[in-house]
Amino acid sequence: MKNQDIFQRAQESIPGGVNSPVRAFKSVGGTPRFIAKANGAYIWDVEGTQYIDYLGSWGPAIVGHSHPEVVKAVQDAAVNGLSFGAPTEGEVILAEKICALLPSIEQVRLVSSGTEATMSAIRLARGATNRRKIIKFEGCYHGHSDSLLVKAGSGLLTFGNPSSSGVPQEFVSHTIVLEYNNLDAVQQAFNEVGNDIACVIVEPIAGNMNLIKPKAGFLEGLRELCTQHGALLIFDEVMTGFRAGPKGVQGLTGIKPDLTTLAKVIGGGMPVGAFGGRKDIMQHIAPMGAVYQAGTLSGNPVSVAAGLKTLEILNRPGFYEQLSATTATLVKGLKEKAAKHGVTFSADSVGGMFGIYFRSEVPTTFAEVQESDTKAFNVFFHAMLDEGVHLAPSAFEAGFVSACHNEEILTKTFDA
Ligand code: PLP
Repeated sequence: MKNQDIFQRAQESIPGGVNSPVRAFKSVGGTPRFIAKANGAYIWDVEGTQYIDYLGSWGPAIVGHSHPEVVKAVQDAAVNGLSFGAPTEGEVILAEKICALLPSIEQVRLVSSGTEATMSAIRLARGATNRRKIIKFEGCYHGHSDSLLVKAGSGLLTFGNPSSSGVPQEFVSHTIVLEYNNLDAVQQAFNEVGNDIACVIVEPIAGNMNLIKPKAGFLEGLRELCTQHGALLIFDEVMTGFRAGPKGVQGLTGIKPDLTTLAKVIGGGMPVGAFGGRKDIMQHIAPMGAVYQAGTLSGNPVSVAAGLKTLEILNRPGFYEQLSATTATLVKGLKEKAAKHGVTFSADSVGGMFGIYFRSEVPTTFAEVQESDTKAFNVFFHAMLDEGVHLAPSAFEAGFVSACHNEEILTKTFDA
């Protein structure tokens, strides 16, 4: 079977031609690689071509693909019975583990995706504060229901087109969309409508703008303003949780959000999401409080088993030190390699994620991200793909490193 043939079939049966990264591939052009097999740091497409993988399933594959211990945990859980929807101890153990690892989380609810986690957290924030408005930032992505939050036609999303979200204006007009890293704008919004702001949701390091870090004082300022005005601060750590560092960005910065959303790594490649935070806020969830929350597949034993095993592996001594060092070495090597292809870029990394920008400086706002030369990125992406290295097929998204990207894999990446 050829990649091209499957691609054609996909156009017929699936609107948009399949999920990411096929969708994302449209931005770089060419035929997406349909992955038939993945192991460690490698993926193989349906034509049998092997690639070193820096897409990492868009984040979850932090211990590498098909880690034998994760596979065994999943197999055992499946053999023990697929009692979805009935309570299992695994759900409780995963919840306890998340609470133990992230001090800002006193209680947590499991869901099945990052989108579900962020939308549930926003709903909870509105219910808990009895306020309507939310503040979000340009270029920060909070899931495919993000378009529900943004004014139709504003064109502010990195993904999708809000004007085609099909959502009537009155449902989205309570979202205030501000520039990332611009604390003055947040202060102004609070001055104007502070008593109706339920929450501020932010990617504390924005992996959906490739990789933008908060300027000094930005997250601290958000924390202060939220506390001052009785709004809740939500860190969307779906991408950064247990990937930017052992305690996510909140661990790196010491800033405590009221609510946190997680997914990707906590499912070890299986569908698990979570939102959690202060007990007094979480207590608004039914049956104790008024905010309804449920999900047929939430906390299902197979996904939970994968998540638990993954968290166990990445909490072994030295895991994050090695991951961060590998990512930094990769970025340096990629820069040198790009120079051989006649292109230069700026880059940044944290933990097991990295961003490369085809502009002279690492950006700090969405507008600056958009100045990145996408044509140069596309040329580099395809040059790497031809050499057997699969980067994330988008000039605007982070790349991911796993524990399997050891020295040998890095050398192969640079020598290819
Ligand atoms: N929030 C952030 C920061 C994300 O990066 C993503 C996905 O990439 C989501 C939310 C949505 O998660 P999911 O794709 O699991 O629905």
